[in-house]
Amino acid sequence: MADWPQHLLAWYQTARREMPWRGHPDAYAVWVSEIMLQQTQVNTVRPYFERFLQTFPNIRTLAAAPDDLLLKAWEGLGYYTRVRNLRKAAQVLVQTNGAQLPTTAQALKALPGIGPYTAAAIASICFNEPEPVVDGNVARVFARHNLLTDDFTKEPNRRTLADWLRPFICKAPIPGDFNQAMMELGALVCTPKNPQCEGCPLRATCQAEKAGTQKDYPIIPARKALPERERDVLFIQNNEGQILLARHTGERLLDGFWELPTREDFPLPHIPLKKKPCYTHHQTFTHFRQTLRIYTTRLTQNAPTLPENLLWSPIPSPHPLTTATKKILPHFLKND
Ligand code: SF4
Repeated sequence: MADWPQHLLAWYQTARREMPWRGHPDAYAVWVSEIMLQQTQVNTVRPYFERFLQTFPNIRTLAAAPDDLLLKAWEGLGYYTRVRNLRKAAQVLVQTNGAQLPTTAQALKALPGIGPYTAAAIASICFNEPEPVVDGNVARVFARHNLLTDDFTKEPNRRTLADWLRPFICKAPIPGDFNQAMMELGALVCTPKNPQCEGCPLRATCQAEKAGTQKDYPIIPARKALPERERDVLFIQNNEGQILLARHTGERLLDGFWELPTREDFPLPHIPLKKKPCYTHHQTFTHFRQTLRIYTTRLTQNAPTLPENLLWSPIPSPHPLTTATKKILPHFLKND
């Protein structure tokens, strides 16, 4: 059982994917990548990562980032609290630590937006601290390997798994490699639906593989049904080809973003709309599901004067757009 780490590390040397932040000499770049990778796939992150570092090459430029530029750089990645916290943490570091990241997981966790997982990832990859990471990928691998029935969405259960992993990472020659090997195994081999056990370096010691019960782990607790919300959204184009955008109000997370206006917030009685929606867009958030019905029109005369919080925007828009708006727009623009 105890020699699985050697098999894991040997496998990682041959299977690891090239990523622009792997082996990056700057801890700031690793930090940015880890925040982007929360809830987001590697291939989605790649172009964002390069652009973000070009726009904000270090902690000081990030700390001084104006809202519009910051949100534009993150536009489409979603979960915008991440980038607001990134800037907040950069500001703390400029004020208190000479614009340098601290080097221990304990100190990293004190910064806005850095939880136990991200702290362990940065501390191990950049500063060689043997602190194990436990995210969904790692939890899945070891739920199967050790036949664990815990609910790993709960932090205390993640901590227990981290405690079990700590003696192993302490013996690893490069703690950052040990952590990245576990994450990579979960992402490439021990995947949620079809684990590739034949090529897995943990096969010899994996208890679920022996019992043929891989797909029964990890145990996912049943979720409550989410409440449903419906909104009517307006796609209005003027005679110059510009589209009508509204400043987002409501969830504080999306402050600073622009979106297609809703009929509820902007009734616009003088603008005639088609009677039926021509497109429907579904979204699932953590706490609710939302259906957006999109009504369109194109104005042939001069546009009416707009109320506050509305503007005509050229396409592509220079303003940061909500993810839903970014997904909806191409549907109409491609049909032009
Ligand atoms: S043997 Fe299969 S189930 Fe076990 S850790 Fe490897 S991929 Fe996952």
